[in-house]
Amino acid sequence: MDFLILFLIYLAISLSCMVVAIKFSRQSRECFTRISHHVTWMIGPMIPRWMQVAVQYALHRLIHQRNSFFLALHLLLEVAVYGEYSWEVFPYSLELGFTLSILLMPYILLFGKMYFFYLCCTSDPGIISPSNHKQLLKVYTYDGTLYQYARVCSTCKLVKPARSKHCRVCNRCVHRFDHHCVWVNNCIGALNIRYFLFYLVTLLGMAAAVGTVTIRFLVQVALMSNLPQAMYVNAEGEHEPVGVLFIVQKLFLTFPRILFMLGFTLLSFFLLAGYSAFHLFLVMTNQTSNEWYKYKNSCRCRVDNSRTDRRTWENVYHRGFITNMKEIICPVTTQKRFR
Ligand SMILES: [Zn+2]
Ligand SMILES: [Zn+2]
Repeated sequence: MDFLILFLIYLAISLSCMVVAIKFSRQSRECFTRISHHVTWMIGPMIPRWMQVAVQYALHRLIHQRNSFFLALHLLLEVAVYGEYSWEVFPYSLELGFTLSILLMPYILLFGKMYFFYLCCTSDPGIISPSNHKQLLKVYTYDGTLYQYARVCSTCKLVKPARSKHCRVCNRCVHRFDHHCVWVNNCIGALNIRYFLFYLVTLLGMAAAVGTVTIRFLVQVALMSNLPQAMYVNAEGEHEPVGVLFIVQKLFLTFPRILFMLGFTLLSFFLLAGYSAFHLFLVMTNQTSNEWYKYKNSCRCRVDNSRTDRRTWENVYHRGFITNMKEIICPVTTQKRFR
């Protein structure tokens, strides 16, 4: 069962990397700073000084400045998955008689995803500048809880419109700021949140399509090889039917690359499904990720200070699901009355 241990280690590493990356994309940079300090404290004495400086510089560039590292990683992982899909799964499945429409679905979704990915990377998220500042001040009212009137951004020197935030990575204020996404190397705000949501949905669809075709292919191979009916001789010399683990082991030894690709795809699917569900909840309640975290943290602070002072934040921006959805698809600032 060595292969299973290896496979589980691989799954654990992939899962940890993805959870860390998603956590990072939700701006929990304090967590990364703490981890890097902890690691430096533990292994620092064993590493030469020049290497420590180089690692610290690289981490600073990675975490606090705009860079294309995650963008390149994202494309590299996609090339690896689609490379394996095109190299083995697609031709073998075609031989087994799978219909072309099913086999081509991952490519169609890939084109759609690339389009929204490009828009997410290059579009204006809603940058606040002196020219549009006055107009943006009128869009949302200050709720008096998360957004106070007349707060000035110390960098941009402009009064912050309600629901805006200064992105420390991009060094600019963004209207209806959601978060800074390292995977697209851009802020997600009022004007590109719609592209980001479509990007998430198509990415989830890609993982689902590649995973479904691959699982179907492996099941078909197992059935054609009569693996479920196979028997083995146990310690007492009796014949017993093989279990699911044996079938997985057999498939793993026959198609190792496909199994690795499937493991990664399934992990991505479940993580993306959770993240998409979180964003669906935000859309339904007209909140941004920033507001959700701000409220969660402010609530935690209040509970720490006084257990009786646990107020609920009155979300004044929530106008019902349909109107919230319209606000995402057609941002207020792009509507005629605001031009
Ligand atoms: Zn600013
Ligand atoms: Zn940003």
